[in-house]
Amino acid sequence: MTANHQQPEVNIGLVGHVDHGKTTLVQALSGEWTDQHSEEMKRGISIRLGYADATFRRRPDVDAPDCYTVANEVDGVETEHVRTVSFVDAPGHETLMATMLSGASIMDGAVLVVGANEEVPQAQTEEHLMALDIIGIENVVIAQNKIDLVDSEQARENYEQIQEFVEGTVAEDAPVVPISAEQEINIDVLIDAIEETIPTPDRDPDADPRLLVARSFDINRPGTTFDTLTGGVIGGSLTQGTLDVDTDIEIRPGREDDGDYDPVATTVRSLQAGGSTVDSATPGGLIGVGTGLDPSLTKGDGLAGQVAGPADSLPPVHDSFTMDVELLDRVVSADDDEIEPISTNEPLMLTVGTATTVGSVTSARDDEAEVTLQRPVCAESGAKIAISRRVGARWRLIGVGTLE
Ligand code: GDP
Ligand code: MG
Repeated sequence: MTANHQQPEVNIGLVGHVDHGKTTLVQALSGEWTDQHSEEMKRGISIRLGYADATFRRRPDVDAPDCYTVANEVDGVETEHVRTVSFVDAPGHETLMATMLSGASIMDGAVLVVGANEEVPQAQTEEHLMALDIIGIENVVIAQNKIDLVDSEQARENYEQIQEFVEGTVAEDAPVVPISAEQEINIDVLIDAIEETIPTPDRDPDADPRLLVARSFDINRPGTTFDTLTGGVIGGSLTQGTLDVDTDIEIRPGREDDGDYDPVATTVRSLQAGGSTVDSATPGGLIGVGTGLDPSLTKGDGLAGQVAGPADSLPPVHDSFTMDVELLDRVVSADDDEIEPISTNEPLMLTVGTATTVGSVTSARDDEAEVTLQRPVCAESGAKIAISRRVGARWRLIGVGTLE
Protein backbone atom coordinates (compact mmCIF):
# COMPACT_ATOMS: atom_id res chain seq x y z
CA MET A 1 0.00 0.00 0.00
CA THR A 2 1.04 3.51 -0.74
CA ALA A 3 2.85 5.08 2.13
CA ASN A 4 1.37 8.51 2.47
CA HIS A 5 3.26 11.20 4.27
CA GLN A 6 1.73 14.09 2.46
CA GLN A 7 -0.95 16.28 3.91
CA PRO A 8 -4.13 16.15 1.82
CA GLU A 9 -5.07 19.45 0.21
CA VAL A 10 -8.80 18.97 -0.29
CA ASN A 11 -11.71 17.24 1.49
CA ILE A 12 -14.03 15.16 -0.64
CA GLY A 13 -17.23 13.83 0.88
CA LEU A 14 -18.33 10.29 0.11
CA VAL A 15 -22.10 10.38 0.32
CA GLY A 16 -25.00 8.16 -0.65
CA HIS A 17 -27.36 5.48 0.55
CA VAL A 18 -26.22 2.82 2.99
CA ASP A 19 -24.68 -0.25 1.30
CA HIS A 20 -24.17 1.42 -2.07
CA GLY A 21 -20.42 1.04 -1.64
CA LYS A 22 -18.93 4.17 -0.05
CA THR A 23 -16.60 2.35 2.29
CA THR A 24 -15.58 -0.12 -0.41
CA LEU A 25 -14.77 2.74 -2.74
CA VAL A 26 -12.67 4.50 -0.12
CA GLN A 27 -10.77 1.27 0.32
CA ALA A 28 -10.21 0.93 -3.42
CA LEU A 29 -8.85 4.47 -3.53
CA SER A 30 -6.81 4.53 -0.38
CA GLY A 31 -6.05 1.01 0.69
CA GLU A 32 -6.98 0.32 4.25
CA TRP A 33 -8.70 2.81 6.43
CA THR A 34 -6.16 5.34 7.66
CA ASP A 35 -3.54 4.11 10.01
CA GLN A 36 -2.22 7.61 9.99
CA HIS A 37 -3.14 8.67 13.45
CA SER A 38 -2.52 7.26 16.82
CA GLU A 39 -4.69 4.31 17.73
CA GLU A 40 -6.68 6.45 20.12
CA MET A 41 -7.45 9.10 17.58
CA LYS A 42 -8.38 6.55 15.00
CA ARG A 43 -10.74 4.87 17.40
CA GLY A 44 -12.41 8.14 18.16
CA ILE A 45 -12.69 9.35 14.60
CA SER A 46 -13.97 6.21 12.96
CA ILE A 47 -17.08 6.08 15.08
CA ARG A 48 -18.63 9.01 13.34
CA LEU A 49 -17.03 10.82 10.48
CA GLY A 50 -14.40 8.67 8.83
CA TYR A 51 -11.49 10.33 7.09
CA ALA A 52 -9.25 8.40 4.73
CA ASP A 53 -6.45 9.93 2.73
CA ALA A 54 -5.71 8.84 -0.81
CA THR A 55 -2.90 9.83 -3.11
CA PHE A 56 -3.77 9.98 -6.79
CA ARG A 57 -0.83 9.16 -9.04
CA ARG A 58 -0.26 8.99 -12.77
CA ARG A 59 1.76 6.81 -15.08
CA PRO A 60 4.21 8.88 -17.07
CA ASP A 61 3.75 8.77 -20.85
CA VAL A 62 0.15 7.56 -20.58
CA ASP A 63 -2.79 9.85 -21.42
CA ALA A 64 -5.72 10.61 -19.13
CA PRO A 65 -7.82 8.91 -17.97
CA ASP A 66 -5.83 5.66 -18.33
CA CYS A 67 -2.84 7.13 -16.55
CA TYR A 68 -4.53 7.46 -13.17
CA THR A 69 -3.85 5.03 -10.38
CA VAL A 70 -3.23 4.88 -6.65
CA ALA A 71 -0.34 2.45 -7.04
CA ASN A 72 3.29 3.49 -6.63
CA GLU A 73 4.32 1.38 -9.55
CA VAL A 74 2.58 -0.04 -12.62
CA ASP A 75 4.28 -2.67 -14.81
CA GLY A 76 7.60 -1.92 -13.17
CA VAL A 77 7.35 1.81 -13.90
CA GLU A 78 7.20 4.26 -11.04
CA THR A 79 4.18 6.56 -11.02
CA GLU A 80 4.12 10.31 -10.32
CA HIS A 81 2.31 12.11 -7.51
CA VAL A 82 -0.75 14.05 -8.67
CA ARG A 83 -2.65 15.06 -5.54
CA THR A 84 -3.34 13.82 -2.05
CA VAL A 85 -7.00 14.11 -1.07
CA SER A 86 -8.94 13.28 2.04
CA PHE A 87 -12.20 11.38 1.77
CA VAL A 88 -14.77 12.09 4.41
CA ASP A 89 -16.94 8.99 4.62
CA ALA A 90 -20.39 10.09 5.74
CA PRO A 91 -22.49 7.44 7.40
CA GLY A 92 -25.42 6.56 5.12
CA HIS A 93 -27.69 5.37 7.86
CA GLU A 94 -30.73 7.56 8.23
CA THR A 95 -30.23 8.23 11.91
CA LEU A 96 -26.80 9.67 11.17
CA MET A 97 -27.99 12.54 9.04
CA ALA A 98 -26.73 15.05 11.61
CA THR A 99 -23.26 13.58 11.22
CA MET A 100 -23.50 13.79 7.47
CA LEU A 101 -24.58 17.43 7.73
CA SER A 102 -21.75 18.36 10.04
CA GLY A 103 -19.38 16.56 7.68
CA ALA A 104 -20.77 18.57 4.78
CA SER A 105 -19.46 21.73 6.40
CA ILE A 106 -15.90 20.60 5.78
CA MET A 107 -16.36 19.12 2.29
CA ASP A 108 -14.89 20.97 -0.69
CA GLY A 109 -16.68 18.64 -3.07
CA ALA A 110 -18.37 15.27 -3.01
CA VAL A 111 -18.64 11.90 -4.69
CA LEU A 112 -22.22 10.67 -4.63
CA VAL A 113 -22.21 6.88 -4.74
CA VAL A 114 -25.29 5.34 -6.34
CA GLY A 115 -25.84 1.60 -6.56
CA ALA A 116 -26.56 0.60 -10.17
CA ASN A 117 -28.59 -2.36 -9.02
CA GLU A 118 -31.35 -0.43 -7.23
CA GLU A 119 -34.05 2.05 -8.14
CA VAL A 120 -32.95 5.69 -8.04
CA PRO A 121 -33.24 7.44 -5.68
CA GLN A 122 -33.01 5.48 -2.46
CA ALA A 123 -33.83 7.45 0.70
CA GLN A 124 -30.37 8.68 1.67
CA THR A 125 -29.29 9.13 -1.95
CA GLU A 126 -31.92 11.80 -2.07
CA GLU A 127 -31.39 13.20 1.38
CA HIS A 128 -27.63 13.45 0.95
CA LEU A 129 -27.98 15.14 -2.43
CA MET A 130 -30.42 17.63 -0.88
CA ALA A 131 -27.87 18.30 1.84
CA LEU A 132 -25.15 19.00 -0.74
CA ASP A 133 -27.58 21.22 -2.59
CA ILE A 134 -28.57 23.14 0.54
CA ILE A 135 -25.06 23.60 1.85
CA GLY A 136 -23.91 24.60 -1.60
CA ILE A 137 -21.36 21.90 -2.38
CA GLU A 138 -21.27 22.38 -6.10
CA ASN A 139 -18.44 20.17 -7.23
CA VAL A 140 -20.00 16.74 -7.41
CA VAL A 141 -19.02 13.51 -9.17
CA ILE A 142 -21.50 10.65 -9.32
CA ALA A 143 -20.09 7.14 -9.03
CA GLN A 144 -22.54 4.64 -10.48
CA ASN A 145 -21.31 1.69 -8.49
CA LYS A 146 -21.78 -2.10 -8.61
CA ILE A 147 -21.77 -2.03 -12.37
CA ASP A 148 -20.59 -5.65 -12.19
CA LEU A 149 -24.02 -6.66 -10.91
CA VAL A 150 -26.07 -5.37 -13.84
CA ASP A 151 -26.19 -5.90 -17.61
CA SER A 152 -25.75 -3.01 -20.01
CA GLU A 153 -29.50 -2.54 -20.43
CA GLN A 154 -29.98 -2.16 -16.67
CA ALA A 155 -26.95 0.09 -16.44
CA ARG A 156 -28.40 2.41 -19.06
CA GLU A 157 -31.80 2.47 -17.38
CA ASN A 158 -30.17 3.25 -14.03
CA TYR A 159 -28.15 6.01 -15.71
CA GLU A 160 -31.35 7.56 -17.07
CA GLN A 161 -32.87 7.47 -13.59
CA ILE A 162 -29.81 9.20 -12.16
CA GLN A 163 -30.02 11.94 -14.81
CA GLU A 164 -33.69 12.51 -14.10
CA PHE A 165 -33.08 12.55 -10.36
CA VAL A 166 -30.29 15.15 -10.40
CA GLU A 167 -32.13 17.52 -12.72
CA GLY A 168 -32.41 20.94 -11.16
CA THR A 169 -29.96 20.12 -8.37
CA VAL A 170 -26.39 21.05 -7.73
CA ALA A 171 -25.39 17.75 -9.38
CA GLU A 172 -27.23 18.46 -12.62
CA ASP A 173 -24.05 18.60 -14.66
CA ALA A 174 -22.07 16.17 -12.54
CA PRO A 175 -20.21 13.50 -14.50
CA VAL A 176 -21.61 10.00 -13.94
CA VAL A 177 -18.87 7.38 -13.92
CA PRO A 178 -19.85 3.70 -13.99
CA ILE A 179 -17.54 1.77 -11.66
CA SER A 180 -17.19 -1.34 -9.60
CA ALA A 181 -15.55 -0.39 -6.32
CA GLU A 182 -15.25 -4.03 -5.38
CA GLN A 183 -13.76 -5.23 -8.67
CA GLU A 184 -11.79 -1.99 -9.05
CA ILE A 185 -13.21 -1.33 -12.50
CA ASN A 186 -12.97 2.17 -14.01
CA ILE A 187 -11.29 3.65 -10.95
CA ASP A 188 -8.92 5.53 -13.28
CA VAL A 189 -11.86 7.22 -14.99
CA LEU A 190 -13.33 8.13 -11.60
CA ILE A 191 -10.04 9.72 -10.50
CA ASP A 192 -9.95 11.64 -13.78
CA ALA A 193 -13.48 12.95 -13.12
CA ILE A 194 -12.52 13.96 -9.58
CA GLU A 195 -9.42 15.75 -10.85
CA GLU A 196 -11.51 17.61 -13.42
CA THR A 197 -14.50 18.41 -11.22
CA ILE A 198 -13.22 18.90 -7.67
CA PRO A 199 -10.25 21.27 -7.73
CA THR A 200 -8.35 22.24 -4.62
CA PRO A 201 -9.94 25.51 -3.47
CA ASP A 202 -7.90 28.70 -3.58
CA ARG A 203 -6.69 29.43 -0.09
CA ASP A 204 -5.75 32.75 1.40
CA PRO A 205 -2.32 32.11 2.91
CA ASP A 206 -2.69 35.11 5.24
CA ALA A 207 -6.02 34.12 6.77
CA ASP A 208 -6.11 33.30 10.48
CA PRO A 209 -6.24 29.56 11.09
CA ARG A 210 -9.70 28.25 11.91
CA LEU A 211 -10.39 24.68 12.96
CA LEU A 212 -13.88 23.21 12.93
CA VAL A 213 -13.72 20.64 15.69
CA ALA A 214 -15.32 17.35 14.64
CA ARG A 215 -14.05 15.15 17.48
CA SER A 216 -12.21 15.45 20.76
CA PHE A 217 -10.54 12.87 22.97
CA ASP A 218 -8.70 11.99 26.07
CA ILE A 219 -5.83 9.80 24.84
CA ASN A 220 -4.58 8.82 28.28
CA ARG A 221 -4.93 5.20 29.34
CA PRO A 222 -7.00 4.64 32.43
CA GLY A 223 -4.82 4.92 35.53
CA THR A 224 -2.32 7.36 34.01
CA THR A 225 -0.71 9.33 36.79
CA PHE A 226 -0.90 13.08 36.88
CA ASP A 227 2.74 13.71 36.02
CA THR A 228 2.54 11.67 32.81
CA LEU A 229 -0.91 12.87 31.74
CA THR A 230 -1.15 14.07 28.12
CA GLY A 231 -3.30 17.13 27.41
CA GLY A 232 -6.64 16.91 25.62
CA VAL A 233 -6.69 16.31 21.86
CA ILE A 234 -9.06 17.92 19.39
CA GLY A 235 -9.52 16.74 15.82
CA GLY A 236 -11.14 18.40 12.88
CA SER A 237 -10.54 20.29 9.67
CA LEU A 238 -9.00 23.66 9.03
CA THR A 239 -11.27 25.79 6.89
CA GLN A 240 -8.63 28.48 6.43
CA GLY A 241 -5.14 29.58 7.35
CA THR A 242 -2.11 27.74 8.65
CA LEU A 243 -2.00 26.36 12.17
CA ASP A 244 1.43 26.17 13.82
CA VAL A 245 2.74 24.46 16.91
CA ASP A 246 3.03 26.88 19.86
CA THR A 247 0.17 29.06 18.59
CA ASP A 248 -2.15 30.36 21.30
CA ILE A 249 -5.70 29.46 20.47
CA GLU A 250 -9.13 29.82 21.94
CA ILE A 251 -11.94 27.30 21.62
CA ARG A 252 -15.51 28.61 21.45
CA PRO A 253 -18.17 28.36 22.81
CA GLY A 254 -15.89 26.56 25.27
CA ARG A 255 -16.52 25.03 28.66
CA GLU A 256 -19.97 24.72 30.13
CA ASP A 257 -20.47 26.03 33.61
CA ASP A 258 -24.00 25.98 34.98
CA GLY A 259 -25.55 26.55 31.59
CA ASP A 260 -23.11 29.30 30.65
CA TYR A 261 -20.22 28.78 28.28
CA ASP A 262 -16.78 30.28 28.69
CA PRO A 263 -14.19 30.18 25.93
CA VAL A 264 -11.16 28.09 26.80
CA ALA A 265 -7.66 29.22 25.98
CA THR A 266 -4.78 26.87 25.28
CA THR A 267 -1.66 26.42 23.21
CA VAL A 268 -1.06 24.05 20.30
CA ARG A 269 1.47 21.57 21.70
CA SER A 270 1.57 19.13 18.82
CA LEU A 271 0.02 18.63 15.41
CA GLN A 272 -0.78 15.60 13.31
CA ALA A 273 -1.70 15.90 9.65
CA GLY A 274 -1.45 13.60 6.66
CA GLY A 275 -0.16 10.75 8.77
CA SER A 276 2.76 12.57 10.32
CA THR A 277 3.64 14.77 13.21
CA VAL A 278 4.10 18.22 11.74
CA ASP A 279 5.04 21.73 12.86
CA SER A 280 2.35 23.39 10.85
CA ALA A 281 -0.83 22.29 9.10
CA THR A 282 -2.97 23.70 6.29
CA PRO A 283 -6.57 22.99 5.18
CA GLY A 284 -7.29 19.45 3.95
CA GLY A 285 -7.92 16.23 5.81
CA LEU A 286 -8.08 15.58 9.49
CA ILE A 287 -5.89 17.64 11.75
CA GLY A 288 -5.15 16.33 15.24
CA VAL A 289 -4.22 19.04 17.72
CA GLY A 290 -2.54 18.20 21.00
CA THR A 291 -3.35 20.90 23.56
CA GLY A 292 -2.61 21.75 27.14
CA LEU A 293 -6.24 21.32 28.08
CA ASP A 294 -7.45 19.16 30.93
CA PRO A 295 -8.31 15.91 29.11
CA SER A 296 -11.59 15.65 31.00
CA LEU A 297 -12.72 18.59 28.88
CA THR A 298 -11.94 16.88 25.57
CA LYS A 299 -12.90 13.31 26.37
CA GLY A 300 -15.87 11.72 24.63
CA ASP A 301 -16.21 14.47 22.02
CA GLY A 302 -16.73 17.06 24.71
CA LEU A 303 -15.59 19.82 22.36
CA ALA A 304 -17.01 18.46 19.08
CA GLY A 305 -18.86 21.14 17.13
CA GLN A 306 -16.75 23.97 18.54
CA VAL A 307 -14.42 26.30 16.70
CA ALA A 308 -10.74 26.91 17.44
CA GLY A 309 -8.36 29.64 16.34
CA PRO A 310 -6.54 32.74 17.58
CA ALA A 311 -8.82 34.41 20.14
CA ASP A 312 -9.29 37.74 18.38
CA SER A 313 -10.13 36.08 15.06
CA LEU A 314 -13.03 33.82 16.06
CA PRO A 315 -16.67 34.48 15.17
CA PRO A 316 -19.11 35.41 17.95
CA VAL A 317 -20.96 32.88 20.10
CA HIS A 318 -24.75 32.83 19.84
CA ASP A 319 -27.27 31.59 22.41
CA SER A 320 -30.00 32.59 20.04
CA PHE A 321 -30.13 33.97 16.56
CA THR A 322 -32.34 35.04 13.71
CA MET A 323 -31.97 33.24 10.42
CA ASP A 324 -33.35 33.73 6.94
CA VAL A 325 -35.13 30.52 6.05
CA GLU A 326 -35.57 28.73 2.78
CA LEU A 327 -37.64 25.58 3.05
CA LEU A 328 -37.47 22.61 0.70
CA ASP A 329 -40.59 21.95 -1.35
CA ARG A 330 -41.24 18.66 0.35
CA VAL A 331 -39.88 16.33 2.98
CA VAL A 332 -37.17 14.28 1.36
CA SER A 333 -38.00 10.59 1.01
CA ALA A 334 -40.97 10.73 3.38
CA ASP A 335 -43.88 10.01 1.05
CA ASP A 336 -43.54 13.44 -0.52
CA ASP A 337 -45.16 15.19 2.40
CA GLU A 338 -45.33 18.92 1.95
CA ILE A 339 -43.31 20.98 4.36
CA GLU A 340 -45.40 23.09 6.70
CA PRO A 341 -44.04 26.51 7.59
CA ILE A 342 -41.91 26.75 10.72
CA SER A 343 -44.08 27.54 13.73
CA THR A 344 -43.42 29.28 17.03
CA ASN A 345 -42.30 26.98 19.84
CA GLU A 346 -41.40 24.06 17.63
CA PRO A 347 -38.04 22.41 18.20
CA LEU A 348 -35.62 22.30 15.26
CA MET A 349 -32.33 20.51 14.86
CA LEU A 350 -29.79 23.00 13.56
CA THR A 351 -26.43 22.11 12.09
CA VAL A 352 -23.97 24.99 11.87
CA GLY A 353 -20.44 24.07 10.85
CA THR A 354 -19.68 20.86 12.70
CA ALA A 355 -22.07 21.83 15.52
CA THR A 356 -25.48 20.28 15.92
CA THR A 357 -27.86 21.76 18.45
CA VAL A 358 -31.57 21.86 19.10
CA GLY A 359 -33.21 25.25 18.85
CA SER A 360 -36.63 26.32 20.00
CA VAL A 361 -38.42 28.72 17.68
CA THR A 362 -39.35 31.92 19.51
CA SER A 363 -40.75 33.74 16.53
CA ALA A 364 -41.43 32.67 12.95
CA ARG A 365 -42.37 34.49 9.82
CA ASP A 366 -42.53 33.19 6.26
CA ASP A 367 -38.87 33.47 5.48
CA GLU A 368 -37.31 34.16 8.85
CA ALA A 369 -37.13 32.45 12.22
CA GLU A 370 -35.76 33.39 15.60
CA VAL A 371 -34.44 30.49 17.66
CA THR A 372 -33.12 30.00 21.16
CA LEU A 373 -30.45 27.32 21.28
CA GLN A 374 -30.04 24.52 23.77
CA ARG A 375 -26.29 24.80 23.27
CA PRO A 376 -24.69 27.93 21.86
CA VAL A 377 -22.78 27.93 18.59
CA CYS A 378 -19.79 29.88 17.36
CA ALA A 379 -20.62 31.14 13.87
CA GLU A 380 -20.28 34.08 11.57
CA SER A 381 -23.05 36.17 10.09
CA GLY A 382 -23.91 34.56 6.75
CA ALA A 383 -23.18 31.03 7.96
CA LYS A 384 -25.35 28.30 6.43
CA ILE A 385 -27.56 26.35 8.79
CA ALA A 386 -29.09 23.00 7.88
CA ILE A 387 -32.58 22.87 9.41
CA SER A 388 -34.16 19.56 10.37
CA ARG A 389 -37.58 18.94 11.89
CA ARG A 390 -38.79 15.96 13.83
CA VAL A 391 -41.08 13.93 11.56
CA GLY A 392 -42.27 10.73 13.17
CA ALA A 393 -39.34 9.14 14.93
CA ARG A 394 -36.52 11.06 13.28
CA TRP A 395 -35.15 14.39 12.20
CA ARG A 396 -35.73 15.24 8.56
CA LEU A 397 -33.93 17.89 6.61
CA ILE A 398 -36.49 20.60 5.78
CA GLY A 399 -34.47 23.57 4.67
CA VAL A 400 -31.56 25.91 4.96
CA GLY A 401 -31.07 28.98 7.08
CA THR A 402 -28.62 31.84 6.79
CA LEU A 403 -27.42 33.40 10.02
CA GLU A 404 -28.32 37.10 10.10
P1 GDP B 1 -21.55 1.72 2.33
O1 GDP B 1 -22.63 1.43 3.34
O2 GDP B 1 -22.04 2.67 1.28
O3 GDP B 1 -20.26 2.13 2.93
O4 GDP B 1 -21.32 0.34 1.53
P2 GDP B 1 -20.14 -0.72 1.65
O5 GDP B 1 -18.90 -0.20 1.01
O6 GDP B 1 -20.04 -1.17 3.05
O7 GDP B 1 -20.67 -1.87 0.70
C1 GDP B 1 -21.87 -2.57 0.96
C2 GDP B 1 -21.80 -3.95 0.33
O8 GDP B 1 -21.75 -3.85 -1.08
C3 GDP B 1 -20.58 -4.74 0.75
O9 GDP B 1 -20.96 -6.08 0.93
C4 GDP B 1 -19.65 -4.60 -0.44
O10 GDP B 1 -18.79 -5.70 -0.58
C5 GDP B 1 -20.62 -4.52 -1.59
N1 GDP B 1 -20.09 -3.78 -2.73
C6 GDP B 1 -19.52 -2.55 -2.69
N2 GDP B 1 -19.12 -2.18 -3.93
C7 GDP B 1 -19.45 -3.18 -4.76
C8 GDP B 1 -19.30 -3.39 -6.18
O11 GDP B 1 -18.77 -2.58 -6.93
N3 GDP B 1 -19.78 -4.58 -6.67
C9 GDP B 1 -20.37 -5.51 -5.87
N4 GDP B 1 -20.79 -6.62 -6.45
N5 GDP B 1 -20.50 -5.35 -4.55
C10 GDP B 1 -20.06 -4.21 -3.99
MG1 MG C 1 -19.86 2.67 4.92
